[in-house]
Amino acid sequence: MIEENTPVGVPLGKPLEEAAVQAFAAEFRGALVRPGDEAYDAERAVFNAMIDRHPALIARCTGVADVIAAVNFAREEGLVVAVRGGGHSVPGYAVCEGGIVIDLSPMKGIWVDPEARTARAQAGVTWGEFDRETQTFGLATTGGRVTHTGIAGLTLGSGSGWLERKLGLTCDNLLSAEVVTAGGEFLKASESENEDLFWGLRGGGGNFGIVTSFEYQLHPIGPILLGGMLLYPATRAKELLRFWRDYMETAPDELNVTPAFITAPPAPFVPEHLKGQPAVGLIVCYAGPVEEGEGWVRPLKEFDPPDVDLVQPMPYTVVQTLLDPGNPPGRNNYWKAENLDGLSDEAIDTIVAYTARVSSPFTQVVIQPMGRAVGRVGEDETALGGRDASHAVHAISMWEDPAESETHVAWTREFMEAMELFAIPGISLNFTSDQSEGKVKASFGPEKHERLVALKDKYDPTNLFRLNQNIKPSRKQPQPVS
Ligand SMILES: Cc1cc2nc3c(=O)[nH]c(=O)nc-3n(C[C@H](O)[C@H](O)[C@H](O)COP(=O)(O)OP(=O)(O)OC[C@H]3O[C@@H](n4cnc5c(N)ncnc54)[C@H](O)[C@@H]3O)c2cc1C
Repeated sequence: MIEENTPVGVPLGKPLEEAAVQAFAAEFRGALVRPGDEAYDAERAVFNAMIDRHPALIARCTGVADVIAAVNFAREEGLVVAVRGGGHSVPGYAVCEGGIVIDLSPMKGIWVDPEARTARAQAGVTWGEFDRETQTFGLATTGGRVTHTGIAGLTLGSGSGWLERKLGLTCDNLLSAEVVTAGGEFLKASESENEDLFWGLRGGGGNFGIVTSFEYQLHPIGPILLGGMLLYPATRAKELLRFWRDYMETAPDELNVTPAFITAPPAPFVPEHLKGQPAVGLIVCYAGPVEEGEGWVRPLKEFDPPDVDLVQPMPYTVVQTLLDPGNPPGRNNYWKAENLDGLSDEAIDTIVAYTARVSSPFTQVVIQPMGRAVGRVGEDETALGGRDASHAVHAISMWEDPAESETHVAWTREFMEAMELFAIPGISLNFTSDQSEGKVKASFGPEKHERLVALKDKYDPTNLFRLNQNIKPSRKQPQPVS
């Protein structure tokens, strides 16, 4: 069994009745996709190829009215509900076995207000689409590092990106959200309306309703920034990472340098001696003037001149594509993450030792420098836990052959068990396949978890929205109807 406590969605209640589907279809404007339809297999596929589920119905929503109709239909018919934004959830929460997928991906509206420096975007938008619109005005907010990730799941689960040390997480830049609750009610949530819900949406995931649009604070960024990668053989990683760790303490908030252990690809920019070899890349993004960034990157290059230097001025929209080639949809994925309180020499040695015997050439291990603007938001200001972490380690295991799954899952678990020695509670649930109740609770801490349970009781007391990092309501669950 590979999936850990992943709720595959055992259908609750009676099977889908044709008359009910037809009545629903009459009030639904978007497409309804069902088993046997030509589009069915393409529409049920998600980013992670390990996830192969067969919903009874996929409701491709065109707007708020469709979302309300779909929520009411699902509730009345007693269906398992999966909510789909960009379809990138690694545990595969965007699709269920039986039940209904409420698919928001056709909802692509983006409205930028350049003067107020805000943007409202519908829940089907991806980061590539969002950045394109906001960068037209030289604006951005912290967003996902892969262009095809959805803004929706990412924002609700925290939202970590290259700009976070300067601008905070994506959820810290959320100004308001429009939400359809489990009861089919349409609400606005912000610092001044339904404040409790707004608090829970920032890190509490998709537990409290379906967000139909997000309003973000934007900031002047670029359009040209210093970005790219410095690449070294992994044999030099220990000394390099010790220097990087200490150097980042002194570097300004604008500088994000993120080490990623990879297997060097057979790409033209990689010298022959590195191709196919374990390597460590320092991925650079300087969210300020290019010359200033060059000054801050220079000491890294002088400490250990890289074998490949791809750091150069480039559009922010290009920085946002740097990880796309290594993260294509359709591979098998198993991810784990831990937050660290300081990156000790021993923690570095453990990362270096495990990455040296990584089981798949597609796997990446990323050490995220945290703190700065992320840590300046108070622990109680949003639902998200773990703001005191200095670093996060992400083990992003990827492979192509499904027959190899046991091997790669075992490597990931073994590595991250070794990292637990250095870990502190509280992780971004966006980055893990492990969604056990204990992990979810620990990620928020007991007090915040209790507050989230109270929110769940208020907005989704029957746990209609439970294919997520689930916060269970305190009331009794509905029983299957015989
Ligand atoms: C290649 C890749 C790169 C990534 N990079 C980053 C990164 O840089 N930073 C980061 O923080 N995370 C990153 N992630 C993790 C990512 O944030 C989560 O996987 C997130 O769930 C993706 O959002 P989505 O809308 O694409 O997901 P989906 O799979 O569509 O949705 C996941 C779940 O989120 C909830 N949800 C989605 N939309 C809504 C909605 N409108 N209303 C209510 N609930 C909703 C539901 O529970 C849903 O099942 C990455 C993931 C991948 C696969």
